[in-house]
Amino acid sequence: MHTKLLEPLNLGFTTLKNRVIMGSMHTGLEEEAPEKLAAFFARRAQGDVGLMITGGFATSETAVLWPGAGRMTSEQDAARHRTVTDAVHAAGGKIAIQLLHAGRQAYNVNMVSASAKQSPIFPFTPRELTAAEVEQEIDGFANSAAFAKMAGYDGVEVMGSEGYLLNQFLTERGNERTDEWGGSFEKRMRFPLEVVRRIRAKVGPEFIIVYRMSMLDLVPDGQTLEETLLLARELEKAGVTILNTGIGWHEAKIPTIATQVPRGAFTWATRKIKEVVSIPVAASNRLNMPGDAERVLQNGDADMIAMARPFLADPDWVLKTKESRVDEINTCIGCNQACLDHTFGGKRCSCLVNPQACHETELIFVKTTAKKKVAVVGAGPAGMSFSLTAAQRGHAVTLFDEAKEIGGQFNIAKQVPGKEEFHETIRYFNTMLKKEGVNFQLGKRVSADDLKDFDEVVLATGIIPNVPSLPGVDHPKVMGYLDVLKHGKPVGQRVAIVGGGGIGVDTAEFLTHHGVEQSPSTSIEDFCEFWGIDREQKARGGIAGVKANPEKATRQITILQRKPKKIAGPGKTTGWIHRAALEAKGVRLLSGVEYIGVEDAGLRIRTPDGAEHLLEVDNVIVCAGQHPNRELEESVTALGKPVHIIGGAFKAAELDAKEAINQGARLAAVV
Ligand code: FAD
Ligand code: NAP
Ligand code: SF4
Repeated sequence: MHTKLLEPLNLGFTTLKNRVIMGSMHTGLEEEAPEKLAAFFARRAQGDVGLMITGGFATSETAVLWPGAGRMTSEQDAARHRTVTDAVHAAGGKIAIQLLHAGRQAYNVNMVSASAKQSPIFPFTPRELTAAEVEQEIDGFANSAAFAKMAGYDGVEVMGSEGYLLNQFLTERGNERTDEWGGSFEKRMRFPLEVVRRIRAKVGPEFIIVYRMSMLDLVPDGQTLEETLLLARELEKAGVTILNTGIGWHEAKIPTIATQVPRGAFTWATRKIKEVVSIPVAASNRLNMPGDAERVLQNGDADMIAMARPFLADPDWVLKTKESRVDEINTCIGCNQACLDHTFGGKRCSCLVNPQACHETELIFVKTTAKKKVAVVGAGPAGMSFSLTAAQRGHAVTLFDEAKEIGGQFNIAKQVPGKEEFHETIRYFNTMLKKEGVNFQLGKRVSADDLKDFDEVVLATGIIPNVPSLPGVDHPKVMGYLDVLKHGKPVGQRVAIVGGGGIGVDTAEFLTHHGVEQSPSTSIEDFCEFWGIDREQKARGGIAGVKANPEKATRQITILQRKPKKIAGPGKTTGWIHRAALEAKGVRLLSGVEYIGVEDAGLRIRTPDGAEHLLEVDNVIVCAGQHPNRELEESVTALGKPVHIIGGAFKAAELDAKEAINQGARLAAVV
């Protein structure tokens, strides 16, 4: 089934078990005790991945992403990392360290770059490196590689994508030098080529050098296709072992890994590189399931697959593929909520669907010695998560839900265009709960009477949507989001959405697609067209400049909220995507409003300037948050047995699936 993916890869001096690379992720463990990083990687090595790459480690004092970020610049650093490499090798794995110079993409007042040009998304202007300092930075890479070898790493990955220093040298966007390091592309290319040559000279021929190459910059004044192809050929000559794919600078205004991006959306860019080199080339970005990964290899788009977040979601991704247990894979749904949102929020990474990720030494599930009969009411994310871990620990679990299928609100979320991946989480739990012998009692609204024979009860009954005390809220044109997303009630052409949280934004997304044949998330062609990606790569950076025929909404939609802050959806790294996509489709976003009331003609509001307006709409859809559903709490507590409340039933405000799944797993670890 997955013959190409699982085929060993002979690199001449060493052989990788299969074609799967676990791509680099900064998890936040890099700056903690090395034992935690070791446990993280060892767990994934046990899962049989071919080659793992660490998060980025700085190659010099000026290379850091922020003061105090991890670096590989001394023998002491090398000694610390022994803990990691020994653990990985003991588990039968191979690991390379990523060497990173952030250049201008850093939170560092001492930042340096090819030229003194500030990044639009970072707060400081970098200092231009002198020619002598350029030489020192190149030596910094080579020395770091030597320390990495001393630390026992099997190789290094040179970070040459996402807009970091190497890209800054390579492009007119970052490099305005007129000396031997700037001007023509040949001169701009010297920096990365020298980095690779000097690393190869230091580490010798039998050491893996992966080069993460920006195949598509997705920023103005980025590289052209010709420049990218030339660079690939020169990197091969300079001594690179494997070329890995990077797509888009952090500065890019086009989504590259979020769940709205179709699976395998950029493998066409990788293919162009593969055609001009003879070393293995790895495809990446939004590949999360073995079938798609295998297809990319069978199509000849790449020789290897690099995936990062899917290994947070499931350390056994490769093992399960090998053992034909694909249905048991806990799939990364591309939400970014517990990984990138955490990283950019200064918190340690984890995973929405796998709270053990990056907490391997802290969240441990051990078999119980006191088996209990546990009833779980509610098969949403919280109830599913609790039930699975409790059953795996050896408890006898019965899972009740009044719905005929498990999944709770995920069954609603998965219908939102761009959130189709949520169905994978339901599939995973369905498979695993059955495998662990959980007794499903579906299609049954539970009362306390049904729970008398259990030792303990978990209430995971979710939420009830809020109905705001707004004049005219009982007008026939007012609907709840469940009317739209769950019950499929007809919605008019002119719509006002009350509430600009995640669900308000999702409801608008749903309504802009409703009745439209193709959504940007369903085909790679449409996605590229919508976001203005030039697949021919004629334009610099691969951006077409203007949005080529953006899909227009079939409805007039206004999202409103009372708070003055921007409406964007909750995600730190994804809110801008929602905002850009909705604005491109003509959705109006109004913050700081006061609701006066709903009347026959529409919704009357007051804007921050004090003016009154009537929004002439056919429907007002209420997405005004939720409160906990605790209908059963009193009657179940009266049974006199331990009752636990988790998920939305515990706390509805700001409760998301990340917290619901985490709470479920953490309770099950101790029950
Ligand atoms: P629920 O998922 O609400 O599950 C509760 C279950 O209990 C239901 O299945 C219900 O039928 C059952 N139940 C209740 N009472 C009884 C009873 N008496 N007997 C039997 N069964 C009963 N979160 C995110 O983190 N990221 C997102 O991108 C995201 N997108 C969303 C998009 C939409 C459109 C919606 C609606 C929600 C979204 N959420 C998202 C929120 C997320 O789905 C919820 O936070 C999560 O589902 C809460 O989980 P839960 O298990 O507590 O409750
Ligand atoms: P939410 O994010 O709390 O948003 C509720 C919205 O309703 C806010 O915009 C709020 O704005 C408004 N509101 C609250 N009380 C109101 C009232 N009395 N009258 C009028 N407006 C009112 O909740 P949600 O959108 O329902 O989402 C529920 C949970 O699911 C959240 O935790 C969310 O993070 C999660 N979720 C996440 C995603 C995602 O993509 N990550 C997507 C969907 C849901 P004002 O009070 O300013 O008017
Ligand atoms: Fe994937 Fe979301 Fe987990 Fe990140 S948090 S690894 S995007 S499922």
